[in-house]
Order: sequence, then C-alpha cells, then structure tokens
Amino acid sequence: MQKSITSFFKRKSDVPDESPEPKKAPKIKTETEDTKKLLIKTEDESPKAKIKAKPEPMTVDPPESPDAPKSVKVEKDTENKPAAANDAKNESDTENKEADRKVTTIGLVSTSKDGKEDAENYDPSKDSYHPLKNAYWASKKVTPYLALARTFQVIEETKGRLKMIDTLSNYFCSVMLVSPSDLVPSVYLSINQLAPAYEGLELGVAETTLMKAICKATGRNLAHIKSQTQLIGDLGIVAEQSRVSQRMMFQPAPLNIRDVFRKLREIAKISGQSKMDLVYNVFVSCRSSEARFFIRSLIGKLRIGIAEQSLLTALAIALVKKNHIGDCKASKVPEAYKDEIAETTLLLKTAYSQCPNYDIIIPAILEYDIKELQERCPMHPGMPLRPMLAQPTKGVHEVFERFGGMHITCEWKYDGERAQIHCNEKGEISIFSRNSENNTAKYPDLIARSKNFLKCPVESYIIDSEIVAWDVERKQILPFQVLSTRKRKNVDIEEIKVQVCVYIFDLLYINGTALVTKPLSERRKLLNEHFQEVEGEWQFATALNTNDIDEVQQFLEESVKGNCEGLMVKTLDQEATYEIAKRSRNWLKLKKDYISNVGDSLDLVVIGGYKGKGKRTGTYGGFLLACYDTENEEYQTICKIGTGFTDEDLQTHSEFLGKHVISSAKSYYRYDSSLEPDHWFEPVQVWEIKCADLSLSPIHRAAIGIVDGERGISLRFPRFIRIRDDKNSENATDANQVAHMYQSQDLVKNNQKTLTQTDLEDEFY
Ligand code: AMP
Repeated sequence: MQKSITSFFKRKSDVPDESPEPKKAPKIKTETEDTKKLLIKTEDESPKAKIKAKPEPMTVDPPESPDAPKSVKVEKDTENKPAAANDAKNESDTENKEADRKVTTIGLVSTSKDGKEDAENYDPSKDSYHPLKNAYWASKKVTPYLALARTFQVIEETKGRLKMIDTLSNYFCSVMLVSPSDLVPSVYLSINQLAPAYEGLELGVAETTLMKAICKATGRNLAHIKSQTQLIGDLGIVAEQSRVSQRMMFQPAPLNIRDVFRKLREIAKISGQSKMDLVYNVFVSCRSSEARFFIRSLIGKLRIGIAEQSLLTALAIALVKKNHIGDCKASKVPEAYKDEIAETTLLLKTAYSQCPNYDIIIPAILEYDIKELQERCPMHPGMPLRPMLAQPTKGVHEVFERFGGMHITCEWKYDGERAQIHCNEKGEISIFSRNSENNTAKYPDLIARSKNFLKCPVESYIIDSEIVAWDVERKQILPFQVLSTRKRKNVDIEEIKVQVCVYIFDLLYINGTALVTKPLSERRKLLNEHFQEVEGEWQFATALNTNDIDEVQQFLEESVKGNCEGLMVKTLDQEATYEIAKRSRNWLKLKKDYISNVGDSLDLVVIGGYKGKGKRTGTYGGFLLACYDTENEEYQTICKIGTGFTDEDLQTHSEFLGKHVISSAKSYYRYDSSLEPDHWFEPVQVWEIKCADLSLSPIHRAAIGIVDGERGISLRFPRFIRIRDDKNSENATDANQVAHMYQSQDLVKNNQKTLTQTDLEDEFY
C-alpha cells in the first residue's frame, strides 16, 4: 500500500493556526519537566489521540520517495499511558540496528529506561561531560543529527565564547572517538558550509521556499508561518515550534549527520520544485531543535556565533581531550594541557591557512600526529592561501627604526584588488581574493592572456599580486573606484569595459615547490626567471632596494604621483619569509594617508562644535570647519575634525568658542543638515589644518559649483596644527584655492579626462 507522506503526520489535535501568538521569541525547552508535562497533557487531552491509540503494532508501507521516512512501527500500551514506541524500523538504516533499547516516548521527549544519556537530554556543555560515556550514539557509530542540533542549541544559549568553544570541542571529541567519519560533515555543518569556502557552494534557500515546505509538512498555512516569522524574527524557531506542536502518528527514522549533510549539498545544487521537495523530505524527519537548525542552515544563518577561528580552536581542544581521554575524568582539560592546546591550535590554524580544506585536514588530524599536519596538508595550486598582510607605519622614520640595518626593498603600493593567481598542473587558472573568495569568473580576460607572461614553460605556480584598473589609451593606473565598477559574476569577455593590469609582487609556489619559507630576494629571483612583463597586462611591482632614508621618501612621493597609495616596505633576506595569514612586521605599509601628503595646509574657520563623549566629556570633541567663498561671501563647510588636539587644546578651544555660541547658524553658513553641530559659533577663529588629500563630497559645500555642479570638496584625514591668530575669518582659505588644491592632486590631474568624460564618473567618489 502506498501512502502519501502527509499521512505520516497529523497536527496535534485540531489546534487552529490562529493559536495565541507569543510576544517574543520563546526559548524552546527540550528536556525540562515542564515540557514533558505539557506534552503529556496535550496528548492525553486530545480526543484524536485516543482514537489513534490502537493496541496492535501498526505498519505503514514505505513512501515512494527514497528520502521520505520509511516503514514505521508504533507500539502503544493498552492503558492509554504515554505511547511506548520502538525507534523507526528501517533495515537500510543503521540507526535501526540499535538493540532493542526501550525508549519511552512522550510526544517528542524521550528518556531511556536504562538511564543512559539520550538524544533529548544530550548536553555537551555540562561540566561533567565525558566524550565517551555521554556520546549516547556510541553503540551505533552513526552520529544523530539531533546530537549536533542539541550542541548548537546549548551553544546558542551560552554567553561566553570560551564556554561555547569548549561545548563544541566536547561534541567534536565524542565524534572523534565514536563516529570519526562524521567529523567532516559535523565541522562543515557547524560553520554552515557545504564544501571548502573557495568552492563557493552556497545554500541560501529563499525563505518562501522554506515556508512552503514547512506548511506542507506541518499542515499550517503560509500566512500563519509568515506572521509568526515576522513576530519572532526567526524562521528556524517557527519551524521548530510548528514541529513540536505537531502530533506525530508515526515517528520517522532519526536523521543522521551524514545524510543531512549529503542532502544539504544536493539541495544547494538543484533548483525549482525539486529543491522544495528535498527540503520537505528532510524537514518531515526533523525532531525538536533539528527543525530549527536545519531551516537556519538552509537560510544561511546558523546564529550560533561560531566562526572559523573558534571552530579551529574547538577542534584543537577536542584533539587534546581525545589524546588524554584516559587521564581526565570529565571534559575539563586540566591546566597541565594548556600548552598542548596552544601548540595544537597553532599547528592546526597554520595548516588550515595553507590548506583551507576540511576534507583534507580532518582525515589528517585523525590519522597522523598533529606535528605532521603541515607536511600532510601541503599548499597546492587551486587552494587559496591566507595572504600575508602588512603593518601600518606613521612615517619613513618608523620604517627605519623597525628594520635597522636589514636589507629592505620598497614597492609601490597599488590600489586595486589583491589577487592570488594559481595555475595547477593541468593548466587551470584560479584567482582568489584577499578573503580567499574565488574570483576566477570575474577575470576571464586575465585567464585568456595568462600564457603571455610566461618566460619559459611553467608547470604550476601561485603568484601574489594586485589587480588595478588600467587606462589603455593613456597607459596608466586608474583609481580603485573604477575597478569596483567591474561586474563580479558571469563576466563576458566581450562586454568588459574596465581593463585591468596585474602588478605582481610575489611568487609563492613554482613547479610543485612551495617557496613560502624562502626569503623574498630568492622568491623575486625565481619570479624574474620564470615570468616576464607585458605592458598594461602583467607587470612587476615597481621596486627600489635601498637603505637610504631620503631615497625612500622620494620613492614614496613618486608612488603617489604614479597613482599609488604609497609604499610597501619589505625585508629582503633576513626575516623575509612569506608569512601566511599574518599581519607581519616584515611588511610595513607607508600610506600617503598617514603622512601629510597635501603640501600646503589650509586655514579654515571653526563654525560649529560637537559635544565630546567619554574622555572628552565636558569639552567639545569635534568641530565643523569651513572655507570662505569671497564671491558669495559665505562660509562653506569642508570637514569635521576631531584629530590633532591635545586635551589642553580641547580645553582652550572649548572655553574660547563657548563664549561665541550662537542660537542658530548664520544665514551665510552653507552646510548640509546632516552636519548640524551641537553648537554653532560666530566665525571668530581660524585654524591651520593639514590633511591627506581632498576629495569630492556629496555633503560638504566647499567650492561647490567650481569643480562640480552639485558636490563640494572635503578634506580626508584632517589634522589640527595650530590657531592662526594672525588671520581673521575672511582671510581664511578661499573656495577657489580649495578647488585649485583639489585639482592639482596627482590622481585628479592624471585622470582629468577620465574623471569628466567617462560614464563611470559617479562611481569615483
Ligand atoms: P592594506 O589593505 O591597507 O592593509 O594594504 C595591504 C594591501 O595592499 C595588500 O593586501 C595588497 O592588496 C595591497 N598591495 C598593493 N601593492 C602591494 C605590494 N607591492 N605588496 C603587497 N601588497 C600590496
């Protein structure tokens, strides 16, 4: 006999959808006496419950879909006591090979008669947790999805991060010991991934699709699910509530981690009705909090606050716990293992940063000593490495203080998008962003010309570089804002408007050999041996090896003229390895923003003050500055400023300007209402100000109408230098001077044509 899946479930009595709505997201209790009582009462009171209670075992034929719950046998005792049921019987399901362990099922809450830990009571957060004894699925060797859902549930209710990590580590440790082949899916499910991040396999199923599946499985109507979701703000909770309040005629086979993970992967790959069907098929088997987390996984937001670094730490702690399972009675790892945990965490994170793939890492940690991990999980083209990053510096002097007598090199710091370009042995090219996202589809033009820069036959490589927008006619770099207008996905090579050039600055892997432990001088040598420049396509970062402070300063200025952000200063020989994933002190960035790039300072009028907060309470914490437009005889705002003041300065300014507060802005103050200060001042004081550069602004009004019809000019990174007692307000920097300063900036000068003539103009600032 074939039965439709809906016949497996019957909603609890005939509770109407319009049942009183909770005021706020309720906490779902799963193991308390309250819940048990509530469920017993509900079932006993339900007239339909009595009708359904048949004394004989009842068997239902399997449904058509292979994913749907299979034959279910339900036993009821004769005295209308809570139902006593065997777990679902399914020959193909290992779950059901479980010995005749008698479980008393009261609604969805179950307690094993032999007093052993069971699904609904599973709590890996408890202090007495023992990874073996408390792994209630130990006899079956297949991890129930409910164990993970329970873990998520307790983590969600935990406040401290350390406790969250410890809880997760307890669960991982149990899986390592009891059902190790479930560790990979457990790890992926914990960070809501289906594959390595760089493969870009994403779930993100539309909420309406999920709502429809929930309606179909629970018999609720869509409007109700929608209104509940709006009220509670979490479809996962709504799904769980709908399942909890649903009376189940037959208990479907319990879900296990492996199947859920496999089905989630399938769901990610299909679309349309079959996607909805598959969601439904899994959802009907969800028990208690499984429903919440299954739905949240599909939405793409697990809401348990575990990100990659916490997950890696939890895995490392689990490994240490596993290694000492004999020594520690409970889950608490003794103080003595703190160093081991720190070392294991470091080794794991290091390996992960060069091989970000749990399908490779997890089997390796299960099989080999953690000290071998890096060697067992080598870097390989096609897998992005976490890039090395640089530390900021405030000026050339700081660079020399740091590097002392070491050989250094300065490279122009290009303002574009970081690109790690990989070529594997099959000649397949992949391009990864700074965050290891796969950007390959964004740059088909680069891939098409990737052979051009090979100097000799090369089998495989990984280069580190910056992609910048390139003006083909003028043969020069364009600002980052131009690059950001480029399409991200499904780029058709014929339709590309923004051309790019790759500036290569490092070589990390060549012909099967990792170079990250070699010094930069050697990596550079190999780079030059194997690759060549092609103008406007592939270029080496402009570099200067020097230890002369004046030359560095001059090179910095040249880089700014060349439309770059400043310099990257790097060690060449000593302490010069490529430090994966580190913000290293061996790379220092010297950005024009940190130094006074605009040679001339500006003299500006203080027209408003913002009350200070925190340390600055009681004085003004920031001020509104304006230039003077002699033609229109008005003060036009140019920036807000809060930097460059000592506490004493702020005290002095507050006292002085406090005497010149006016009740509203003067009619000749030109400003945007979003800038309204706490107090307006008479235009009585002029300040000398330095800044990094000037840019067009939609809110400031300085020089409006001179450079641009609608936008004014504003200062970036303004710094207070001193009070100009020798100047009165009308002698402040004039709007025309501001416009002139803006236009004489290298970046603006070089791109004048582009800035005014391309349709991309609006994207620039
Ligand atoms: P920041 O984003 O300010 O931390 O600066 C570091 C970024 O500068 C890197 O992630 C690269 O994207 C970029 N960059 C540009 N030119 C270079 C270069 N020559 N060496 C290293 N990084 C560079």
